Amino acid sequence: MKEYISPHCRIQGCAGSERCRNAVIENDPILEKISLEAKKIEASSNHSNVSESKILSHRLFSASASFCPNACSRPQITDFGIIAASIVNITDAGCTGCNACIESCREDAIRFKTPVNPEIIREKCLHCGSCSTACPTGTISSSKTGYRIFIGGMMGRHPMLAAELPDIYDRDSVIELFKICFGIYNDHFYSGLRFRNMILRYPEKLPLSLREIFLTALNGEFHIKSDTAEQQRSVTPSEGNYR
Ligand code: SF4
Ligand code: SF4
Ligand code: SF4
Repeated sequence: MKEYISPHCRIQGCAGSERCRNAVIENDPILEKISLEAKKIEASSNHSNVSESKILSHRLFSASASFCPNACSRPQITDFGIIAASIVNITDAGCTGCNACIESCREDAIRFKTPVNPEIIREKCLHCGSCSTACPTGTISSSKTGYRIFIGGMMGRHPMLAAELPDIYDRDSVIELFKICFGIYNDHFYSGLRFRNMILRYPEKLPLSLREIFLTALNGEFHIKSDTAEQQRSVTPSEGNYR
């Protein structure tokens, strides 16, 4: 497990490709990148009159990244969780009907329209990429990698699992979302609220473009996964009110 701790934030990550063959992204720098952003946000904030040594560890904003859906670093119980995703698609390469993809899929997310005509069941797919690794012909192929994002997980008196945002996000978008979420938390660090409760109580702190997406996810009204790489959501810096 990797860990980066700054005065108001704890960022953890699973072993990733350095030690685990399940990782869907090789040598992913996302942990280092968001940890750098956390330090920048803290450095530009106005909390210098409070002794950092008095901050209890459970008050830190928690972020965690796992590099496959096994989620060893438990992103679902953090304020901001990341799970790497491999977006698999069916290509024009001829299928031999060897069934290696079916055997590799633990989610039962592949079916055949004919014995040589596979199809991904998107609602079941967890984007682990195992089928594309197993396929000898390239009929099932990973066209892109990205990240699933989870917000608002917490333990304590009323534990809640994090809510998954819709779609798969590219790395830059994950970093922008992290900056927005941690920026809000850091600005109101001494409110005593966890990130989930902060957003539910004061949704106006979110940029308008994200308000409905976050609230709908936190209220558990939908859970959508992307169909194709083209559906990756982008978040541009101009949408954020982070520092
Ligand atoms: S989450 Fe996946 S990639 Fe990370 S250590 Fe666990 S099995 Fe390996
Ligand atoms: S990427 Fe989706 S379809 Fe392929 S093995 Fe993983 S869960 Fe199954
Ligand atoms: S898609 Fe690939 S792994 Fe699956 S049956 Fe066809 S050739 Fe085999």
